[in-house]
Amino acid sequence: MRAVDIIIKKREKGELSREEIKFFIEGFVSGEVPDYQASAFAMAVLLNGMTARETTDLTLSMAHSGQLLDLRDVVDLAVDKHSSGGVGDKTSIAVLPIVAACGLPVGKMSGRGLGFSGGTLDKLESFPGYRVDLTTEEFKQQLKEKGIVLTGQSLDLAPADGKLYALRDVTGTVQSIPLIASSIMCKKLAAGAQAILLDVKTGNGAFMETLDEARELARLMVDIGKLAGREVIALLSDMNQPLGYAVGNSLEVIEAIETLKGKGPEDFREHCLHVCENLLVLGKRVKELSEGRALAEKAIADGLALEKLRILVQAQGGDVSFVDDTSKFPRAEYVEMVESPREGYLAQILARPVGEASVTLGAGRAKKSDAVDHAVGFIIHHKVGDKVGKGDALFTIHANDAAKLAEVRDVVLAAHVFSDSPVERLALFYE
Ligand code: URA
Repeated sequence: MRAVDIIIKKREKGELSREEIKFFIEGFVSGEVPDYQASAFAMAVLLNGMTARETTDLTLSMAHSGQLLDLRDVVDLAVDKHSSGGVGDKTSIAVLPIVAACGLPVGKMSGRGLGFSGGTLDKLESFPGYRVDLTTEEFKQQLKEKGIVLTGQSLDLAPADGKLYALRDVTGTVQSIPLIASSIMCKKLAAGAQAILLDVKTGNGAFMETLDEARELARLMVDIGKLAGREVIALLSDMNQPLGYAVGNSLEVIEAIETLKGKGPEDFREHCLHVCENLLVLGKRVKELSEGRALAEKAIADGLALEKLRILVQAQGGDVSFVDDTSKFPRAEYVEMVESPREGYLAQILARPVGEASVTLGAGRAKKSDAVDHAVGFIIHHKVGDKVGKGDALFTIHANDAAKLAEVRDVVLAAHVFSDSPVERLALFYE
């Protein structure tokens, strides 16, 4: 078998066999298949798609590229969650501590920023010293002792996704149902949780722009998870406007911390509570969603959720003093508030250009080797449906480069679309 023939077969819209997919993924992980062939393969898949059977085989090959954890010898029932990616999506940083504080062990392998969408690992690395490369043993030990883990792919867990993800980020090959489904589900299967919640985003700031596409991705992932013997549910949530107000790594971490302190933006808090109540039911901690919500709200009010975040950050080597004093996060050199040019109702705050602009500022990567700037990004001061007056604060730019600041100002201004008449608020969840 040759990698090039597999690429050509997919380029010609052929259906790959399980053996061909396995050969390609094993070769990629061992280094025999170079990055340029893996990029070409990803592009061929993006353009020509995969059948559900091929996607399942790709997922399983990627999951088996490293160890598969079995967490049942560590905790009775561990839950996991994953978002399909969005703008301002710092959900895991708030939800994991809340759920863990409710007594449900949660261990999660997250990803880095991908295209215009931010990544939990980049956000968490805003805490100086925070380790995202736990070994399998460390993952299990921490889950057992602390009940919470938030790490990335280590060399021994789903390494195929770690490598492919970095290539997809910079080769225009993110937006593909089989590639997203396999990327998410291989991590979930490798990390060993028995119950998994998928937060599938839809809208202009999501990889799946339409509800139909999001539903297709969700169904495929739920099916793959069930086939592997896991309990899986998917929520379809809105990503037409940024989630919460903050976009950018440390700005989002600060917003998640505020939310754990019982403050934070209303939409983000509500989004997190809905994810939490579902996780608590899925993890059999409660029977009804309403019970789960009450438990989650209590964990925030009692300060136990914030304490779990401290425990997480400390366990993974991060500087926990940043949790208590968020002014310690480095501030960007230029902080500029942009005023509303007119009065009116906000009809749209387009998430995608905001996400792209945050990558321009340095919050994400243009090349695989790029370092991420944790301080830059935006605070978007409004939500769709808000009424604003001329001269009101519309958004604030945090930048470390004056030229880039000037470049993104107009982009984010144009992402705010006004209407003269009242506009309905956007739903948080669709299904
Ligand atoms: N999240 C992932 O882990 N992978 C993707 O491809 C998209 C979102």
